[in-house]
Amino acid sequence: MPPNEQYSDIEDFLSGTSIIEYIERNWAPLKKSGSNFLTLCPFHDDKNPSMSVNEEKGLYHCFSCKAGGNLVTFVKEFKNFNSSEAIKEISDFFGIRLKNINIDFQEDASHKKELYDTNNLVSNLFSKYLLESKNRAKPLDYLEERGFDEKDIVEYNLGFAPKKWDFVSSFFEKKKIELNCANELGLIIKKENENQYYDFFRNRIIFPIKNRQGLILGFAGRTIDDDNPKYLNSKESEIFSKRRALYGIDRFSNLKRGQSKYIFIVEGYTDVLMMNKNGIFNVIATMGTSLTIEHSNEIKKYTDKVIMCYDSDEAGINASFKNIESLYQLGIEVYVLRLPDAHDPCSFIEQYGKEDFVDKAKKSILIIDEYIEYLKDEYIEKNISINELTSNFVSKIKYIKDRIQSDIFINKFISSFGISKKEFEIVFNKEVGRENSMDNSKKVSNLTPEEMILKILIERRNLRNREIMKNFKLMPMSTICKEIISFLEDNIEFEASQIINGIEQEENRNYVSGLIFNSFQTSSDDQINIQFINDCIKKGQINLIKDKKRRINLQLSRNDVIDENEEKKLLQELKILLDEEKKLKK
Ligand SMILES: [Zn+2]
Repeated sequence: MPPNEQYSDIEDFLSGTSIIEYIERNWAPLKKSGSNFLTLCPFHDDKNPSMSVNEEKGLYHCFSCKAGGNLVTFVKEFKNFNSSEAIKEISDFFGIRLKNINIDFQEDASHKKELYDTNNLVSNLFSKYLLESKNRAKPLDYLEERGFDEKDIVEYNLGFAPKKWDFVSSFFEKKKIELNCANELGLIIKKENENQYYDFFRNRIIFPIKNRQGLILGFAGRTIDDDNPKYLNSKESEIFSKRRALYGIDRFSNLKRGQSKYIFIVEGYTDVLMMNKNGIFNVIATMGTSLTIEHSNEIKKYTDKVIMCYDSDEAGINASFKNIESLYQLGIEVYVLRLPDAHDPCSFIEQYGKEDFVDKAKKSILIIDEYIEYLKDEYIEKNISINELTSNFVSKIKYIKDRIQSDIFINKFISSFGISKKEFEIVFNKEVGRENSMDNSKKVSNLTPEEMILKILIERRNLRNREIMKNFKLMPMSTICKEIISFLEDNIEFEASQIINGIEQEENRNYVSGLIFNSFQTSSDDQINIQFINDCIKKGQINLIKDKKRRINLQLSRNDVIDENEEKKLLQELKILLDEEKKLKK
């Protein structure tokens, strides 16, 4: 091959690429900031853009989690690829013809192999114990109760770590194998100030966690007594990251054609196994963590649709709502399947069989519909403002790239809560950090009435008198607003800069500086400011009434849960509110 058919090094290869373009198209928008660009960091739970990207140097750095590198490392981390897969992805994306690259990707391959081998050895040790030991009755009973027999133990490499302190370490010592890998993987732990080790997993059923290729990344151990925690994972290592690992993904190779039109996400390892046992292979579980963007990326390689089948208790429902953000961000459709009578997939299939489960799965509903119903309950039962509720909703759907899909969701929300599109947009734009502007000459502030008052009171300390503060506090407002007012009351003489310095909580401090930097201008004429405050308070009172009306209407619309007397009472309240509103609007 002639020498020019070869990239001399990685820099040479990357010279034909744009890190900005890749990130923008595959992840999130970037904003110019000096000579760099800023974007949300995909490698930690980033709320404000904290990743800086330099196009000329082709590098990125996150100021928060310290992730950094070039486009190859970005793609590796972001897509969970190895080096060659990342190079392939980049050359496909930019249409670069892939020539030979003169780089050594073998750098750490041999050490990784050692780690995989160690996991494999330990996995076999645990399996052997579960299959052959005299003392295996208790773990076997547990597994049998969940519907698994000895054949399954072999099939899924299940094992048992006995109640001993040196089961693993003495095995290694007997075989004269060095302990450094097992230590690095967290399977044994070094005693303080001693050259001795003790076992990490004791008295637990062992589930090996594998990657796509079937190599063991780490382990999960479930107690068979009442030890806490119920589940324990081996520690993170060079080969095991909980942000990426998906239990069950190794068995995707068993998928029949077309079976991955959707993927089930379940909570438990036994759920995955029971479904596998019944020939359902498109199923995964996370390691007790919430679903990360890396997990979603992995899922996206197989499908655009998931069915979440978490437990139907409060924890399971909350977890499923928490997990939709990263899936939506990658354009994955999310359905939800709630099984009856506190069943999980494992116990349900065990009792009713696969056919019933599949029937139920076919009737899965869009999770956004369930989420809106959940928000209705929150709204009726808890005293949260419609703005807070809206911003909760927006946080779930703000990353959806498909405009049609996000419009459908937004319209569902708007019609469920009877708010106007404009009111929704104010919250939406604030949540995504966008200023509300028609055009630059006619900038409209994205502040709520109470935030505008708050801004005035921060900047004009002579207006912080008792009457204004008292009336102001009658308005419905968020917790953060309330906290800042009480800070102002305690520090009535503070200038804006002193306020910023004086607030200890970072979130509140950022909130105040956000208000100060907002495009809404405070007047230098305090007569105008006072008039403005009074108008805002009046508007706030009207909003409060609207809020109460909305709650009542929502309750009335659920006529299956209220009786006749209650209905009468609600209608009366509604009439009083309408009269009050009329008075205020005069
Ligand atoms: Zn970060």
